Amino acid sequence: MGAVTRPMRPLLAQIDLSALKHNFGVVRGHAPHSRSMVVIKANGYGHGMLRVAHALEAADGYAVLNVDEAVALREAGFKQTILLLEGFFSADELPTLAEYRLTSVIHCQEQIEMLEMAGLPVKLDVFLKLNSGMNRLGFRPEDFGAALRRLETARAVVRITLMTHFACADEVQGIAAQLACFDRLATGLDAPRSLANSAAILRYPETHGDWVRPGIMLYGSSPFADASAASLDLKPVMTLTSTIIGVQELQAGEAVGYGATFRAEQPSRVGIVACGYADGYPRHAPTGTPALVNGQRSRILGRVSMDMLCIDLTGLSGAGIGSPVTLWGKGLPVEEIAAAAGTISYELLCALAARVPVVEI
Ligand SMILES: *Cc1c(COP(=O)(O)O)cnc(C)c1O
Repeated sequence: MGAVTRPMRPLLAQIDLSALKHNFGVVRGHAPHSRSMVVIKANGYGHGMLRVAHALEAADGYAVLNVDEAVALREAGFKQTILLLEGFFSADELPTLAEYRLTSVIHCQEQIEMLEMAGLPVKLDVFLKLNSGMNRLGFRPEDFGAALRRLETARAVVRITLMTHFACADEVQGIAAQLACFDRLATGLDAPRSLANSAAILRYPETHGDWVRPGIMLYGSSPFADASAASLDLKPVMTLTSTIIGVQELQAGEAVGYGATFRAEQPSRVGIVACGYADGYPRHAPTGTPALVNGQRSRILGRVSMDMLCIDLTGLSGAGIGSPVTLWGKGLPVEEIAAAAGTISYELLCALAARVPVVEI
């Protein structure tokens, strides 16, 4: 029985599961002695949370943001550790954590108090978070020991993993000061440790510890501005493709798109592509942002609209209505689009709109 297919707009996000598995292998290669907590928050960085979890069922754990996501993973049959990266937000969530055996980050005093008051039927595993310098979530160094002792005596807690998160693992500043802070507090404590995001997994083996927390590298994008994904042996997982649905022949002096921000200096051929900012393509991508037409490199022209964008076909022989366009992915790293639009690949991948059909390849 064939699936009923309806004609649709040609925009498509192709998710390459073999690339995802390959990138997971790269994580394993870098951190062979650590367990892997694959980070699938934000709908698996836009790739589909359950899709990524199923493709990476060899993972030792999954990290998400919300209890709902964690419950969905358990209900889909995953038995591994499931970590709530910000922990619980209110005591109401604690019975669900217990029922579904979810692991919570503990980053503030209020969470410890809620745990002590909860009277849970089972004990929870927790990741106690040290604020080693990022100053976002976590206990300050001077408060960490007391938080640890309180958790150790709390009846609701069974296993405590020590964790921190780096602010500059992808930058020249690096991790030295934060790592020194963590080591100073963790020395002599007999507890598992978790520190490394993708950048630290790739550059700082001394941070690997018991659990690594890879995110962006799984999706085939480089966490570094100064190193391409290919140079790190990472393969793009999401390829955003569309086609040309209209062609305009511009005369010199004519403009294209809202605000008439691009004006042709010579007679030009412009392709109209079915992809716009309502699909997650960044509106801030300026004229000159790369795109592939028939596999050849070209550039976008003028402003990105809600449902369309314009692309330079001048000198591209054979390009016209129906020609395939790659917005990012295979052959065109998403980092390049992000850099052109003044952002990072994470934001573009996460922002893929729900209206874009996804196919697994
Ligand atoms: C998102 C996140 C990660 C993954 O970071 P990447 O840079 O995508 O590898 C790791 N740890 C924590 C606490 C996070 O919030």
